[in-house]
Amino acid sequence: MADRTEQFGAREGTEGIVRCDACPVLCRIRPGRAGACHRYANEGGRLVRTDPLVLLTRTVEAAEPVVPFLEGAEEWAGELAPREQVFVTAIGAGTTYPDYKPAPFIVSARHEGVDTVTVVTEGIFSYCGLKAKIDTDRHLGPEAAPVRHEGEQIGHVTTAEYGSQMLSLGGVRHLTGGSKREGQVTCAALLALCRKEAIEVEIEGGARLVLQAGAAPIVNGVRESRMRVGCGSAAIGIFAQQWHGHVDEVVVLDDHITGVLTEHQAGKCLGMRPSGLRVRGRRSTPGRYFQVAHPGAGWGGTDITDPLSVIEGFDPKQAWPGMRVLMTSTTGEDALWFELDEALRPVPRPMPEAVARTVARIGENCEPAMTSILFMAGAGGSLRAGVTENPILLTRRVQQGEVRVTMGGAPCYLWPGGGITIMADVLRIPDNAFGHVPTPALVAPIEFTMRADLYAALGGHVEHALPLAELLARHAAESESAPWPAANPWPEAPR
Ligand code: SF4
Repeated sequence: MADRTEQFGAREGTEGIVRCDACPVLCRIRPGRAGACHRYANEGGRLVRTDPLVLLTRTVEAAEPVVPFLEGAEEWAGELAPREQVFVTAIGAGTTYPDYKPAPFIVSARHEGVDTVTVVTEGIFSYCGLKAKIDTDRHLGPEAAPVRHEGEQIGHVTTAEYGSQMLSLGGVRHLTGGSKREGQVTCAALLALCRKEAIEVEIEGGARLVLQAGAAPIVNGVRESRMRVGCGSAAIGIFAQQWHGHVDEVVVLDDHITGVLTEHQAGKCLGMRPSGLRVRGRRSTPGRYFQVAHPGAGWGGTDITDPLSVIEGFDPKQAWPGMRVLMTSTTGEDALWFELDEALRPVPRPMPEAVARTVARIGENCEPAMTSILFMAGAGGSLRAGVTENPILLTRRVQQGEVRVTMGGAPCYLWPGGGITIMADVLRIPDNAFGHVPTPALVAPIEFTMRADLYAALGGHVEHALPLAELLARHAAESESAPWPAANPWPEAPR
């Protein structure tokens, strides 16, 4: 590991103690010990970063007319092939505090004939959180209900999306605005989720969940398998033609919009005879009903376990004995077939094969349920001073699309409006990219890539720029190469 004492620390006294100043905690670290975050350690009186600097490499196809990105690679030690492209991520790069110091690495390189600069730093994010998208139609808890982890509130339930329940986790209020324990527990929960680990959370008045990026959510001990095909009305629209001729009526039960086929526009277009089936709830438009039941863990995200209980009755002027009715949930996991007897009472019967196939088709059209974790943070604050002496210029050029922002090489979505507010899928960010400091705050990699002339125009710390080949040679012992994730676009400097 390379000595970072000059960059991030200072030797103190005669006992070999090193003071780390890479974050506001300012740890005094004894020889052989690590700092509070375990990211820095004292190795024989030298401050070292305990994780390697992560380099991502990809081999350029010979047929691709690309000027080698790694200029001078032939002269360099030869560990990398000349046609290999290298991107220096901020993973393991270290942080600077206070931020007016230049970022740990400012890398100059030539790519496709263009001189570029990538500014690389591990940002300390007090303003950060996660958006968790949980593919399930099961009711997880009321909107705005607190989400707790180890007894502390770390977030809340936010607006549901199409087929997914959403949680907002972390954020500056939970990190800094509550008790010390709330901040620590929130930070630990965010870190675990960013590291693609599983955590358990409990929603007040709702479900107990196990969440892990890229894995199916576990709701009250049951692993979710299907993401619904759509709301009840959408399911009616999608499958109406396949039901036509096999059924007299279909009810698709859903917590938000329950569909009734013959009344729905889809049934009308097919010329279906009105069935006279009346469901409970508030009629929105023909064949579309709101609030047929309470939210819950039953059919279609409702609290219904007996589907017949949502039927108010049958209009004797329209319904007829022998009428065949399918009731199903939006995932096809729950379904019931019944026929009306002479007194127009529903009598459950075995489902005909042709109808069972349509229910199976609903299931076939459901995607696998998954938990998605998006990291969201404001990179606007003082972190920008490590890039340029005039931070507003960086903000403007990022907003104008002239500076590419990545996290461990992974693409970021940039929110419109002020600041540099970014969002990235943790599954696209390499492993071991996230850390924390006990302030508490999350540490995450961030890279800014741009043309070299633009970097100079921004008032960048150009005197600290290090040619890529030199950086690789100088930091070979403390760096580690990994293959470029094929799903991520290569972060070229915007033209
Ligand atoms: S918490 Fe980590 S980064 Fe902060 S001063 Fe201590 S060792 Fe350095």
